[in-house]
Amino acid sequence: MGSNPTLGTMKKQQNLRIIPLGGLGEVGRNMILLEYRESILIIDMGLGFPGEDMPGIDCVIPNTNYLKINKRNILGMLLTHGHYDHIGAIPYILPRIGSLPIYTSSLTKGIILKRQEEFPNQPKLEIEEIKDGSEIRLGPFKIEAFLQNHNIPENLGFFIQTPIGNIVHTSDFKFDLTPVNDLPTNFERLKEIGKREILLLMSESTGAEEEGHSLSEKTIFENLDKIFQNARGRIVAASFASLINRIQQLITLSEKYKRKVAIEGRSMKTNIEIAQNLKTIKVKNGTFVKAKDIAKFPDDKITVICTGAQGEEDAVFMRIANREHKFIRIKKGDTIIFSSSIVPGNERSVQALKDEFHRQRARVFHYKMMDIHASGHAKQEELRQMIQLMKPKFFLPIYGQYSMLVRHAELAEEEGIPKKNIVVAENGQVINLNQKRIFIERETVPSNHIMVDGLGIGDVGEVVLRDRQNLARDGMFVIVVAVDRTSGKVKGSPDIISRGFVYLRESKELLRETRKKVIDIVDRAAGSGGAVNWIYIKDEIRNKIGQFLFSKTQRRPMILPVVIEV
Ligand SMILES: [Zn+2]
Repeated sequence: MGSNPTLGTMKKQQNLRIIPLGGLGEVGRNMILLEYRESILIIDMGLGFPGEDMPGIDCVIPNTNYLKINKRNILGMLLTHGHYDHIGAIPYILPRIGSLPIYTSSLTKGIILKRQEEFPNQPKLEIEEIKDGSEIRLGPFKIEAFLQNHNIPENLGFFIQTPIGNIVHTSDFKFDLTPVNDLPTNFERLKEIGKREILLLMSESTGAEEEGHSLSEKTIFENLDKIFQNARGRIVAASFASLINRIQQLITLSEKYKRKVAIEGRSMKTNIEIAQNLKTIKVKNGTFVKAKDIAKFPDDKITVICTGAQGEEDAVFMRIANREHKFIRIKKGDTIIFSSSIVPGNERSVQALKDEFHRQRARVFHYKMMDIHASGHAKQEELRQMIQLMKPKFFLPIYGQYSMLVRHAELAEEEGIPKKNIVVAENGQVINLNQKRIFIERETVPSNHIMVDGLGIGDVGEVVLRDRQNLARDGMFVIVVAVDRTSGKVKGSPDIISRGFVYLRESKELLRETRKKVIDIVDRAAGSGGAVNWIYIKDEIRNKIGQFLFSKTQRRPMILPVVIEV
C-alpha cells in the first residue's frame, strides 16, 4: 500500500458510518457509534437483561472490540438519559476502552456517579453536565442537546452536525403536553430543529407497534388518584427504580391522602436520594418513614413504594408476596399496584406474583385494568409526528425489537420517505451514509452479547452457558472410583453423588446397577495389564454410563467421572 489512499477508501472515508453495537433487534443494551474518518462519537452505553436461556447471568452488555481496536479515535460519549439500558454498561466497558469525556444531564450524571460507588478502583469519570440548548464541539461533530419527554426527567435528544449533514437522535421519548415534574414538549423547538435540513433521523422504536398516542403523565396521575381515593388499607406500589416520574406521582398522591411513604429497595432509595438532591423530585418533610415503623401508623395512612414490578426474584415486591419481608405482610384489603409495563420475557413471573397477591386477598391493579401505565415511549401517532417535524431525507429506526424497527420503517414510508432512503439494520452492521444515499456495508463488527456474571465480564461464554443449561435441565452425576495403580482393578465400591437428576435414596436399584457397570468398564479398560490410560477410562465411564442412564431414565445428566489412583 502506498501512502496515498486509493479512490475507494477516499470515497468511503467521505461517508459517515453509523455502527449500532446494541439496541437494534432487542430492547436494551443501547449503544450506537458515529464514525467519520478517524473520529468516533459514542451515543449511550446500556446494558440488557439476560434471556431465560442464560442462567446465572446478571446482565448483558455490548461487544466493544471495535472500540478497543479504535480506541485512539474515540472523541467522547453522549448519554441520553439515566435508564440502565442507556448507561448501565459504563462500569463494565470504560475500563476496557479507557476514559473519555462524557456529556449528559445533571440527573443522569448523578445516577451514574452513585452507581460508580459500587465499582471501586475504577478511574474517575469525566462527566460534563449539559442541558437543553448546550452545544458541544467534538472533532468533526457539532452537537446540540434538546429536551425530550420520557418517564425520567432531563432526557436529551441530540442534533448533530457532521461533515456529511445533520443528524437527529431522538433518545427514548414521548410527546406530553401535561407531564409530571417536567416541562411540556416544546414543539416550537422541535420544529425549529426540523428546519435545519435533517439528513438522517434516528428515532426510537419501542412503541412502533402500538396504535395511537402515549398517555400523558397527567392521565396516569388521575387514574392513580382514583385508586388512592378508594384504597382502604395500605397501598403497596411496585415500579422501576429509575421510573422517577412514576415514583413522584405515587409520593404526591400519598401526600394528598395523608399517607406516609416507605421506600423499599436499595436502587430505588438511591435514585430518590439523587433526584432529591438535584431537586428533580419533590417530597414534603415528614413524608418518608422507615419500613420498620409502618406498623405505628393506621393502615390507610401508609404507602409502600418498592422495586420488583417485573417479578424479579430478589426484589422487594417478591419478598413481600412470599411473606419473606421483614416488616411488610399483605393483609386482606390492601391495595397492590403494578405501576410499570412488563418487560418482554417477564410475563410469567409477573403473573405468578399477581396471583400470589390475590391469594392474600389484596386488591390488585395492573396497567391492563386501569391506565396506570403509560410507557414512556412514543406510539405510532407521535412517531409519525416526529418524522413530520424533522422531515429527514434518510431514516434509521433504532432501539427496539426487530419487528418494532420494521413497523417503524413502514410508518416512515407512509409519511413519505422513499423506501430506498430507509434502512432497517441490526447490531454490528455498518450503515454508510452520504448526501445521496444510505446503505448497509458488507463488513460487520462484532456485536454478540457479552455476559456479565458477578465480577466476570465476558468470561462466561457459550461453553459455560451450555453447561449451565445442561445442569439446569438434567442435573449432574458424579462418579468417584478408586483404582489400584498396579493391578488396574477397582478398589471398593464407586461413590456416586448426584444433584438435580434423581433422588438417590429412592433410586437404589439404579445406583447399584450403575456401580456394577462402572466396575466393569474400569476392569475391562485397565485391568488387562500394561500402562493405564486414565483419560480413556474417564471417557469410557462418561460415555457408557451416559448411555446407560439415558436408557433407564431418558435423561442426560452431566456426568463427571473422578478416577483416583491408589
Ligand atoms: Zn428510557
